[in-house]
Amino acid sequence: MRVDVAPGVEKALREFVLPEELGFGAVDAPVMFSAEWRLGQWGPASLLPHGPIGIAPGARALHYGELVFEGLKAYRVSRAGPMAAGARCDQQPPNLFRPDQNFRRLQLSARRLSMPEVPEELFFAGLESIIRACADIIPRRSGQSLYLRPFLFGTESGYLLRNSHTFRFMVIANPVEAYASGSPSVAIERRDVRAASGGVGAAKTSANYAASLRGSSAAVAGGHAVALWLDAAEHRYVQELSGMNFFAVIDGDLHTPELDTAILPGVTRDSLIQLARHQGFEVHERRMDIDELLNQISSGRCQEIFACGTGAIVMPISALADTDARLFRPPQTNVIAARLREDLLAIQERRVPDPFGWVRVVS
Ligand SMILES: *Cc1c(COP(=O)(O)O)cnc(C)c1O
Repeated sequence: MRVDVAPGVEKALREFVLPEELGFGAVDAPVMFSAEWRLGQWGPASLLPHGPIGIAPGARALHYGELVFEGLKAYRVSRAGPMAAGARCDQQPPNLFRPDQNFRRLQLSARRLSMPEVPEELFFAGLESIIRACADIIPRRSGQSLYLRPFLFGTESGYLLRNSHTFRFMVIANPVEAYASGSPSVAIERRDVRAASGGVGAAKTSANYAASLRGSSAAVAGGHAVALWLDAAEHRYVQELSGMNFFAVIDGDLHTPELDTAILPGVTRDSLIQLARHQGFEVHERRMDIDELLNQISSGRCQEIFACGTGAIVMPISALADTDARLFRPPQTNVIAARLREDLLAIQERRVPDPFGWVRVVS
């Protein structure tokens, strides 16, 4: 499909300098992608210099949370070692990891909010035009990548409680380090609720983050990385972290909460389940009672816990903190998590063969 390249794009790319310190989202790629939907159809798509956008102050995305998004990474890691010597392996094209899954999830999120679907062609034109324009500024060290953030939002102004009639689909990007936070503790949130059964928890939409902000900020203020959420009806079953899915190693098997309408179906979660089974692990997707889990941690049956998502890939968790400040610390941290993280990252970075067909090269 045709993508108009706005004046200023070439200059923005030419003037961009990749800083040494990237962080996670601190550096903006110099270009962004945009297309608008009105009168029931998509208008022309364009690549623009990165910068502020005009939005009506009454836009529904701002007032009613009519916004869905995605997050995925493009990799272009340098090859090291004897094979690479003089082989110009750095010229290899960038690649995405399971972008079809992000496309599918964006459609499910849009459908849940009764927003128009982004056509597959438009979604990939957005990703690929940014990746091609930024190919030379994708950082090359293992763990680094170009993080891509596609999002769709309602732009119509007005207070009537219905969907917007106009929308905008955009993709912005950031060169990033692997989101690294060591092995933090995580705070169990027993009061607030992030997502209820039948709500929008399984959609990647701003509303879920709004609901989680107070718990997340309280967790950080208490010295923890983030909150662990429980189900809305009984405040008893583990859902996930504010932006990552949850796993526990119990008696040598992997356990993770089974998906429902309140849990975000992570691409990393699904990939780890498949990868772990491929490596011979038993993986159980089931309801996980928080108090049972805490007992298993205390008795040592639960050996290790970790979280996963595109940003961190796998984040080891050193302990769960309960609301009475008691800390539940499994006997080991970052043993199985580290192994799964490295094995998944090696596939994502094309350092090993990809038996699952997950990698998509952008030529
Ligand atoms: C995006 C997200 C995840 C992780 O999904 P990935 O596809 O693995 O990046 C988990 N939980 C929430 C709430 C999320 O928004």
